[in-house]
Amino acid sequence: MNRPILTISAALLLSCATISSAQSPAAFNLIPLTNGVSAAIDNPAAKADSSGSNAAFIIGPDSVAVVDTFENPTAAQKLLDDIHSQTKLPIRFIVNTHYHLDHVAGNQVFANAGAIVLAHQNVRTWEHTENLKFFGAKITPQQRTFVETLGLPQVTYTRDTTIYLGDRRAILLRVMPGHTGGDTVVYDSTANVVICGDLFWNHTLPNLIDATTDQWVATLNTLLADYPTATFVPGHGDHPGTAADLRDFRDYLVFLRTAIAAAQATGLKGQPLVEAVLPQVKAKYGSWAFFDFAQPDILRTDEELRGVKKIPQPAVLTR
Ligand SMILES: [Zn+2]
Repeated sequence: MNRPILTISAALLLSCATISSAQSPAAFNLIPLTNGVSAAIDNPAAKADSSGSNAAFIIGPDSVAVVDTFENPTAAQKLLDDIHSQTKLPIRFIVNTHYHLDHVAGNQVFANAGAIVLAHQNVRTWEHTENLKFFGAKITPQQRTFVETLGLPQVTYTRDTTIYLGDRRAILLRVMPGHTGGDTVVYDSTANVVICGDLFWNHTLPNLIDATTDQWVATLNTLLADYPTATFVPGHGDHPGTAADLRDFRDYLVFLRTAIAAAQATGLKGQPLVEAVLPQVKAKYGSWAFFDFAQPDILRTDEELRGVKKIPQPAVLTR
């Protein structure tokens, strides 16, 4: 999620029904990368009309794949229109990197245009239920309906999966947990681009509400080892990054875990622990975007390290 998410607002829902005026700032900015891959980077200046997260697309020889569909359908429609202005090829695949509202809210826009939505099985399990929590206890009926009618993945997987855009060799969907229990990164070998979803926040504090940070650090180390020269598209953050940027983000998680473990060793937990650790986080990461996440990040990691953090559980699927 892109902002302290209990505040995902009525403005979001209003934005779903509002066509931006010609004078409004763009919901996102397109950044061409290489070999037919582009990143669509959230533009916070558009405020409630912003895309709320980053996405990306890959134009192959016979079709297009889009990774993530933003926080609101209006921005998703704009992305679809932008892709159609670049190519007449069909948009065949949508990949959701995880279930969070700000990455799946435009699924139906693309499904209505004929795309198949793919994601980890847990995205389908959690999309209509776990996203309710982001509106808090005072969720309105309109907000509830919005969540419960989000377009679901039509194809799900639990292991690494490959899609083909004509003879483009492979778009590998790697299951690599950490941000949630159902994360996917997309690797396109032709362009040497890794589309990370919220496993990578570029110089931006992350939302750890569903995180398992030990797995997350391991995932980032694997990405750094496997794709040292790649371009990494973040789920949030204002530009695609390099391995050095990904390393900076990994180091944030490691720093947080280390500082919290040290505070716990002195007997602290909960809010007193936050007050001990927050100045350290601010000294090192005070210039990063979304610094409002620092306090909840500390609280949630404190819970995780004490073994009391509650995170969504996979459904038990029966045949
Ligand atoms: Zn997320």
